[in-house]
Amino acid sequence: MTARRLDGTLVARQIQDELRPLLDALRARGVRPGLGAVLVGDDPASAVYVRSKTKRCEELGLFHETGRLPATATTDQVLAAVEAFNGRPEIHGILVQLPLPPQVDAQRVLDRVLPEKDVDGFHPSNVGRLVQKRPRFVPCTPAGIMELLRRSGVELAGRRAVVIGRSEIVGKPMALLLMHADATVTVCHSRTRELPALTREADVLVAAIGKPGLVRGAHVKPGAVVVDVGMNRVADAALARELVEPERLGEFERKGYALVGDVHAAEVGAVAGALTPVPGGVGPLTIAMLMANTVKAALGPS
Ligand code: NAP
Repeated sequence: MTARRLDGTLVARQIQDELRPLLDALRARGVRPGLGAVLVGDDPASAVYVRSKTKRCEELGLFHETGRLPATATTDQVLAAVEAFNGRPEIHGILVQLPLPPQVDAQRVLDRVLPEKDVDGFHPSNVGRLVQKRPRFVPCTPAGIMELLRRSGVELAGRRAVVIGRSEIVGKPMALLLMHADATVTVCHSRTRELPALTREADVLVAAIGKPGLVRGAHVKPGAVVVDVGMNRVADAALARELVEPERLGEFERKGYALVGDVHAAEVGAVAGALTPVPGGVGPLTIAMLMANTVKAALGPS
């Protein structure tokens, strides 16, 4: 591995520390920011995400509450849980943990979150504001990546950026943010032809695909900055041995699965100039930006 390790945990801590004076100012006004999470069903990964978000709230002294619904919940029941948080003044930010069960209309649910409490930035009015480069709440994962790039001194203006993935949550807002930072942006997806030729043009490559180790050494220009958004649970032993660094294999044996990114870290680490690790890269940044957005929601319109 020759690539510089872009430490998301470190930057997440910085972001979190910078929130403390804002929290003090809010406390002086008698305000404690509050986050309401809606968790439907018993998907283990979703439960882990919600737990780590609420743990971070506790570290910072934020109020938090989780509205839990069974996997059989209807759209109306989930809408009612969102409405309940919408109506409570001590809840400043609302997150709906995705994915929702298939019988629930996720779009209707996300649209019901009040835009001023939409700390995930998924409401159409917040998406529209981002498109128009006058953002209110920016989706946490791409916002965290921008912070990481900025604080790591990665120049974007005039550089070639390639985003693999066009989801509403990561790829699409990521591409907008990079464009707004004056990068020249290409967006790739499952129908893209000759992916490696396109990605090899990238000075900054963001992989948000959901396919373990898809990005190989041959996808990367020597010296490029590579951001690995992927968070994939790998239970196959042969794949884990290929993708997980030797010191984490014990963890795989214990848990029966390992978390890996979309980037083949061993190959790409030998070509790239900088790379985010998985875990310890984008994940902690996402949560830090959720905290930042919740504090922003509590501060109110500026
Ligand atoms: P998603 O909604 O499934 O989107 C995946 C995107 O990848 C789609 O646009 C898809 O193209 C594209 N894609 C799939 N296969 C491809 C291929 N072979 N070549 C090129 N593009 C391909 O996933 P997501 O929500 O954006 O998440 C992506 C990954 O990031 C997942 O591993 C997820 O767990 C992780 N994630 C991590 C964090 C974090 O905090 N670290 C946060 C969110 C997500 P089409 O549009 O054509 O289908």
